[in-house]
Amino acid sequence: MNGVVLSDLGNRLVVDVDGDEVSCVVRKSLRRDKRRKAVVVGDRVTIERSGDGAAIVAVEERHNSISRRAPGNKHREQIIVANLDAVLVVASAKSPDLVPGIIDRFLVAAESREVEPAIAINKIDLDPDAGYQGVADVYRGLGYTVLETSATEGTGVQDARDFLAGKTTAMLGHSGVGKSALANALDHALELRIGEVHKGTGLGMHTTSHVSLLRLPWGGYLVDTPGIREFGLWRMDLSEVRFRFREIEARQGDCRFNDCLHEREPDCAVKQAVDAGEIAGWRYESYQRILASLRDAAS
Ligand code: GDP
Ligand code: ZN
Repeated sequence: MNGVVLSDLGNRLVVDVDGDEVSCVVRKSLRRDKRRKAVVVGDRVTIERSGDGAAIVAVEERHNSISRRAPGNKHREQIIVANLDAVLVVASAKSPDLVPGIIDRFLVAAESREVEPAIAINKIDLDPDAGYQGVADVYRGLGYTVLETSATEGTGVQDARDFLAGKTTAMLGHSGVGKSALANALDHALELRIGEVHKGTGLGMHTTSHVSLLRLPWGGYLVDTPGIREFGLWRMDLSEVRFRFREIEARQGDCRFNDCLHEREPDCAVKQAVDAGEIAGWRYESYQRILASLRDAAS
Protein backbone atom coordinates (compact mmCIF):
# COMPACT_ATOMS: atom_id res chain seq x y z
CA MET A 1 0.00 0.00 0.00
CA ASN A 2 1.12 3.55 -0.70
CA GLY A 3 0.57 6.61 1.41
CA VAL A 4 1.82 10.02 2.52
CA VAL A 5 3.41 10.74 5.91
CA LEU A 6 1.20 13.17 7.83
CA SER A 7 3.07 13.49 11.09
CA ASP A 8 6.04 12.24 13.03
CA LEU A 9 5.36 11.23 16.61
CA GLY A 10 8.94 10.25 17.36
CA ASN A 11 8.81 6.47 17.44
CA ARG A 12 5.85 6.24 15.06
CA LEU A 13 4.64 8.04 11.97
CA VAL A 14 1.08 8.60 10.87
CA VAL A 15 0.56 7.73 7.22
CA ASP A 16 -2.46 8.72 5.13
CA VAL A 17 -3.58 5.75 3.06
CA ASP A 18 -6.54 6.94 0.98
CA GLY A 19 -8.06 8.77 3.92
CA ASP A 20 -7.19 6.19 6.57
CA GLU A 21 -4.63 7.25 9.15
CA VAL A 22 -2.28 4.36 9.76
CA SER A 23 0.25 4.42 12.58
CA CYS A 24 3.54 2.97 11.31
CA VAL A 25 7.01 2.10 12.47
CA VAL A 26 9.99 2.40 10.13
CA ARG A 27 11.46 -0.89 9.00
CA LYS A 28 14.96 -1.40 10.36
CA SER A 29 16.58 -1.72 6.97
CA LEU A 30 15.61 1.91 6.24
CA ARG A 31 17.25 3.20 9.42
CA ARG A 32 20.84 2.75 8.40
CA ASP A 33 22.08 6.34 8.85
CA LYS A 34 21.68 7.30 12.50
CA ARG A 35 22.20 11.03 11.90
CA ARG A 36 19.44 11.40 9.34
CA LYS A 37 15.78 10.59 9.57
CA ALA A 38 14.94 7.95 7.02
CA VAL A 39 11.35 9.12 6.73
CA VAL A 40 9.98 12.65 7.16
CA VAL A 41 6.60 14.38 6.96
CA GLY A 42 5.54 14.66 3.33
CA ASP A 43 7.33 11.53 2.19
CA ARG A 44 5.51 9.20 -0.17
CA VAL A 45 5.92 5.74 1.26
CA THR A 46 5.06 2.10 0.80
CA ILE A 47 3.70 0.36 3.87
CA GLU A 48 3.14 -3.25 4.80
CA ARG A 49 0.62 -4.36 7.35
CA SER A 50 1.33 -7.35 9.53
CA GLY A 51 -0.92 -8.51 12.31
CA ASP A 52 -2.20 -5.39 14.04
CA GLY A 53 0.83 -3.27 13.09
CA ALA A 54 2.16 -1.54 10.01
CA ALA A 55 5.64 -0.66 8.83
CA ILE A 56 7.06 1.76 6.28
CA VAL A 57 9.20 -0.38 3.99
CA ALA A 58 10.13 2.04 1.19
CA VAL A 59 10.37 5.81 0.61
CA GLU A 60 10.02 7.48 -2.77
CA GLU A 61 12.71 9.91 -3.85
CA ARG A 62 11.88 13.45 -2.65
CA HIS A 63 11.37 16.13 -5.27
CA ASN A 64 12.34 18.81 -2.72
CA SER A 65 12.54 19.41 0.99
CA ILE A 66 12.38 22.32 3.40
CA SER A 67 14.88 22.17 6.21
CA ARG A 68 15.95 24.11 9.24
CA ARG A 69 18.93 24.05 11.53
CA ALA A 70 18.56 21.09 13.84
CA PRO A 71 17.82 22.12 17.42
CA GLY A 72 21.02 21.87 19.45
CA ASN A 73 23.26 21.63 16.40
CA LYS A 74 23.48 24.73 14.22
CA HIS A 75 25.47 23.00 11.53
CA ARG A 76 23.12 20.14 10.94
CA GLU A 77 20.13 20.45 8.71
CA GLN A 78 16.87 18.83 9.65
CA ILE A 79 14.19 18.29 7.04
CA ILE A 80 10.85 19.58 8.28
CA VAL A 81 8.73 18.72 5.26
CA ALA A 82 9.38 16.91 1.99
CA ASN A 83 7.66 17.19 -1.38
CA LEU A 84 6.21 20.66 -0.91
CA ASP A 85 4.44 21.68 -4.13
CA ALA A 86 3.14 25.14 -3.40
CA VAL A 87 3.10 28.06 -1.04
CA LEU A 88 0.03 30.22 -0.49
CA VAL A 89 1.17 33.58 0.85
CA VAL A 90 -1.68 35.07 2.85
CA ALA A 91 -1.94 38.81 3.41
CA SER A 92 -4.84 41.00 4.40
CA ALA A 93 -6.31 43.96 2.54
CA LYS A 94 -6.95 45.78 5.83
CA SER A 95 -6.31 45.29 9.55
CA PRO A 96 -3.51 44.61 9.42
CA ASP A 97 -2.79 46.81 6.38
CA LEU A 98 -1.44 45.23 3.23
CA VAL A 99 2.38 45.19 3.41
CA PRO A 100 3.78 43.99 0.08
CA GLY A 101 7.30 43.80 1.54
CA ILE A 102 6.19 40.85 3.68
CA ILE A 103 4.63 39.10 0.69
CA ASP A 104 7.88 39.61 -1.23
CA ARG A 105 9.97 37.91 1.45
CA PHE A 106 7.80 34.81 1.29
CA LEU A 107 7.78 34.88 -2.52
CA VAL A 108 11.58 35.01 -2.60
CA ALA A 109 11.73 32.05 -0.21
CA ALA A 110 9.22 30.12 -2.33
CA GLU A 111 11.02 30.89 -5.60
CA SER A 112 14.32 29.67 -4.16
CA ARG A 113 12.71 26.35 -3.21
CA GLU A 114 11.16 25.86 -6.61
CA VAL A 115 7.66 25.56 -5.27
CA GLU A 116 4.68 27.19 -6.94
CA PRO A 117 3.77 30.42 -5.18
CA ALA A 118 0.36 32.10 -5.06
CA ILE A 119 -0.94 35.04 -3.06
CA ALA A 120 -4.23 35.34 -1.21
CA ILE A 121 -5.33 38.84 -0.28
CA ASN A 122 -7.81 38.18 2.50
CA LYS A 123 -10.30 40.44 4.35
CA ILE A 124 -11.38 42.12 1.12
CA ASP A 125 -14.72 42.76 2.85
CA LEU A 126 -12.91 45.40 4.92
CA ASP A 127 -11.75 47.26 1.79
CA PRO A 128 -14.83 47.97 -0.34
CA ASP A 129 -12.85 50.44 -2.50
CA ALA A 130 -10.47 47.59 -3.38
CA GLY A 131 -7.39 49.67 -2.61
CA TYR A 132 -5.33 46.47 -2.86
CA GLN A 133 -5.93 46.17 -6.61
CA GLY A 134 -2.82 48.14 -7.61
CA VAL A 135 -0.62 45.72 -5.69
CA ALA A 136 -2.58 42.70 -6.99
CA ASP A 137 -2.11 43.92 -10.57
CA VAL A 138 1.65 44.15 -10.17
CA TYR A 139 1.82 40.56 -8.93
CA ARG A 140 -0.47 39.33 -11.68
CA GLY A 141 1.71 41.17 -14.21
CA LEU A 142 4.64 39.12 -12.91
CA GLY A 143 2.70 35.91 -13.49
CA TYR A 144 1.60 35.19 -9.92
CA THR A 145 -1.84 33.83 -9.13
CA VAL A 146 -3.59 36.32 -6.84
CA LEU A 147 -6.72 35.21 -4.99
CA GLU A 148 -9.02 37.79 -3.43
CA THR A 149 -10.74 36.27 -0.42
CA SER A 150 -12.94 37.02 2.52
CA ALA A 151 -12.81 34.15 4.97
CA THR A 152 -15.69 35.59 6.95
CA GLU A 153 -17.98 36.11 3.95
CA GLY A 154 -16.85 33.14 1.91
CA THR A 155 -15.70 35.20 -1.09
CA GLY A 156 -13.02 33.54 -3.19
CA VAL A 157 -12.90 30.47 -0.99
CA GLN A 158 -13.69 28.16 -3.89
CA ASP A 159 -10.74 29.69 -5.83
CA ALA A 160 -8.53 28.82 -2.88
CA ARG A 161 -9.85 25.24 -2.81
CA ASP A 162 -9.12 24.94 -6.51
CA PHE A 163 -5.57 26.22 -6.05
CA LEU A 164 -4.89 23.73 -3.25
CA ALA A 165 -6.40 20.72 -5.03
CA GLY A 166 -3.97 17.87 -5.50
CA LYS A 167 -0.98 19.72 -4.06
CA THR A 168 0.89 19.86 -0.78
CA THR A 169 0.74 23.53 0.17
CA ALA A 170 2.07 25.63 3.04
CA MET A 171 0.03 28.68 4.00
CA LEU A 172 2.41 31.42 5.06
CA GLY A 173 1.71 34.88 6.40
CA HIS A 174 1.99 36.98 9.48
CA SER A 175 -0.32 36.40 12.38
CA GLY A 176 -3.70 38.07 12.20
CA VAL A 177 -4.09 38.02 8.41
CA GLY A 178 -6.67 35.22 8.64
CA LYS A 179 -4.88 31.94 7.93
CA SER A 180 -6.91 29.97 10.47
CA ALA A 181 -10.12 31.68 9.40
CA LEU A 182 -9.33 30.80 5.79
CA ALA A 183 -8.56 27.18 6.68
CA ASN A 184 -11.86 27.01 8.51
CA ALA A 185 -13.68 28.51 5.52
CA LEU A 186 -12.04 25.95 3.22
CA ASP A 187 -13.23 23.09 5.36
CA HIS A 188 -14.69 23.25 8.87
CA ALA A 189 -12.83 20.14 9.92
CA LEU A 190 -9.45 21.75 9.21
CA GLU A 191 -9.41 24.48 11.80
CA LEU A 192 -10.26 22.02 14.54
CA ARG A 193 -7.36 19.85 13.53
CA ILE A 194 -4.78 22.59 13.25
CA GLY A 195 -2.38 22.42 16.14
CA GLU A 196 -3.78 19.09 17.34
CA VAL A 197 -0.62 17.16 16.68
CA HIS A 198 1.56 19.72 18.45
CA LYS A 199 -0.66 19.58 21.50
CA GLY A 200 -0.80 15.80 21.37
CA THR A 201 2.96 15.41 21.49
CA GLY A 202 3.51 18.10 24.09
CA LEU A 203 7.03 19.44 23.85
CA GLY A 204 8.24 16.83 21.43
CA MET A 205 9.99 19.52 19.42
CA HIS A 206 13.40 17.92 19.72
CA THR A 207 12.40 14.52 18.49
CA THR A 208 9.74 15.37 15.93
CA SER A 209 9.61 17.82 13.08
CA HIS A 210 6.56 19.47 14.70
CA VAL A 211 5.08 20.04 11.29
CA SER A 212 2.17 17.97 10.09
CA LEU A 213 0.04 17.62 6.98
CA LEU A 214 -3.73 17.88 6.95
CA ARG A 215 -5.50 15.93 4.27
CA LEU A 216 -7.91 18.00 2.18
CA PRO A 217 -11.17 16.20 1.39
CA TRP A 218 -11.01 17.33 -2.25
CA GLY A 219 -7.41 16.12 -2.68
CA GLY A 220 -4.10 17.52 -1.55
CA TYR A 221 -2.60 18.47 1.80
CA LEU A 222 -2.22 21.62 3.82
CA VAL A 223 0.98 21.98 5.82
CA ASP A 224 0.26 22.81 9.42
CA THR A 225 3.23 24.56 10.95
CA PRO A 226 3.29 26.41 14.25
CA GLY A 227 5.92 28.81 12.97
CA ILE A 228 6.88 30.44 9.72
CA ARG A 229 10.54 30.93 10.45
CA GLU A 230 11.34 27.59 8.87
CA PHE A 231 10.28 28.95 5.53
CA GLY A 232 12.44 32.03 5.84
CA LEU A 233 15.49 33.08 3.93
CA TRP A 234 18.21 31.68 6.11
CA ARG A 235 21.47 31.06 4.37
CA MET A 236 20.37 32.68 1.12
CA ASP A 237 23.28 34.26 -0.72
CA LEU A 238 23.05 37.99 -1.41
CA SER A 239 23.74 37.28 -5.05
CA GLU A 240 20.83 34.86 -5.25
CA VAL A 241 18.11 37.35 -4.33
CA ARG A 242 18.11 39.09 -7.74
CA PHE A 243 17.18 35.81 -9.40
CA ARG A 244 14.13 35.45 -7.13
CA PHE A 245 12.50 38.72 -8.22
CA ARG A 246 11.06 37.85 -11.61
CA GLU A 247 11.30 41.37 -13.08
CA ILE A 248 14.90 41.78 -11.88
CA GLU A 249 15.93 38.35 -13.09
CA ALA A 250 14.51 39.19 -16.53
CA ARG A 251 16.88 42.20 -16.83
CA GLN A 252 19.93 40.57 -15.30
CA GLY A 253 21.81 40.47 -18.60
CA ASP A 254 21.17 44.13 -19.47
CA CYS A 255 23.33 45.86 -16.85
CA ARG A 256 26.88 47.02 -17.57
CA PHE A 257 28.27 44.53 -15.02
CA ASN A 258 27.02 41.03 -15.23
CA ASP A 259 27.37 40.59 -11.47
CA CYS A 260 25.37 43.81 -10.90
CA LEU A 261 23.48 43.81 -7.59
CA HIS A 262 21.42 46.79 -8.87
CA GLU A 263 22.35 49.05 -5.98
CA ARG A 264 24.86 51.79 -6.81
CA GLU A 265 26.43 50.34 -9.94
CA PRO A 266 26.50 52.55 -13.07
CA ASP A 267 24.41 51.70 -16.16
CA CYS A 268 22.08 49.48 -14.24
CA ALA A 269 19.13 48.28 -16.32
CA VAL A 270 17.11 47.52 -13.22
CA LYS A 271 17.39 51.05 -11.80
CA GLN A 272 16.56 52.44 -15.23
CA ALA A 273 13.45 50.26 -15.35
CA VAL A 274 12.42 51.50 -11.91
CA ASP A 275 12.89 55.13 -13.04
CA ALA A 276 10.87 54.43 -16.18
CA GLY A 277 8.06 52.93 -14.10
CA GLU A 278 8.49 49.49 -15.66
CA ILE A 279 9.38 47.97 -12.30
CA ALA A 280 7.21 48.94 -9.34
CA GLY A 281 9.19 51.12 -6.93
CA TRP A 282 7.94 49.14 -3.94
CA ARG A 283 9.19 45.88 -5.42
CA TYR A 284 12.64 47.42 -5.85
CA GLU A 285 12.48 48.65 -2.25
CA SER A 286 11.59 45.12 -1.10
CA TYR A 287 14.63 43.86 -2.96
CA GLN A 288 16.88 46.41 -1.27
CA ARG A 289 15.42 45.63 2.15
CA ILE A 290 16.01 41.91 1.71
CA LEU A 291 19.65 42.55 0.77
CA ALA A 292 20.02 44.77 3.83
CA SER A 293 18.53 42.18 6.16
CA LEU A 294 20.76 39.43 4.77
CA ARG A 295 23.82 41.70 5.32
CA ASP A 296 22.65 42.32 8.89
CA ALA A 297 22.23 38.62 9.52
CA ALA A 298 25.69 37.88 8.17
CA SER A 299 27.46 40.53 10.27
P1 GDP B 1 -4.11 34.03 11.59
O1 GDP B 1 -3.28 34.53 12.74
O2 GDP B 1 -3.45 34.38 10.29
O3 GDP B 1 -4.47 32.59 11.68
O4 GDP B 1 -5.46 34.90 11.63
P2 GDP B 1 -6.91 34.47 12.17
O5 GDP B 1 -7.54 33.50 11.28
O6 GDP B 1 -6.80 34.14 13.61
O7 GDP B 1 -7.71 35.86 11.99
C1 GDP B 1 -7.38 37.02 12.73
C2 GDP B 1 -8.62 37.87 12.89
O8 GDP B 1 -9.09 38.34 11.62
C3 GDP B 1 -9.80 37.11 13.49
O9 GDP B 1 -10.46 37.97 14.39
C4 GDP B 1 -10.67 36.78 12.31
O10 GDP B 1 -12.02 36.67 12.66
C5 GDP B 1 -10.44 37.97 11.41
N1 GDP B 1 -10.62 37.63 9.99
C6 GDP B 1 -10.06 36.58 9.33
N2 GDP B 1 -10.42 36.60 8.04
C7 GDP B 1 -11.24 37.66 7.87
C8 GDP B 1 -11.95 38.21 6.74
O11 GDP B 1 -11.89 37.71 5.61
N3 GDP B 1 -12.67 39.34 6.96
C9 GDP B 1 -12.75 39.92 8.18
N4 GDP B 1 -13.49 41.01 8.31
N5 GDP B 1 -12.10 39.44 9.26
C10 GDP B 1 -11.36 38.32 9.12
ZN1 ZN C 1 21.92 46.35 -12.37
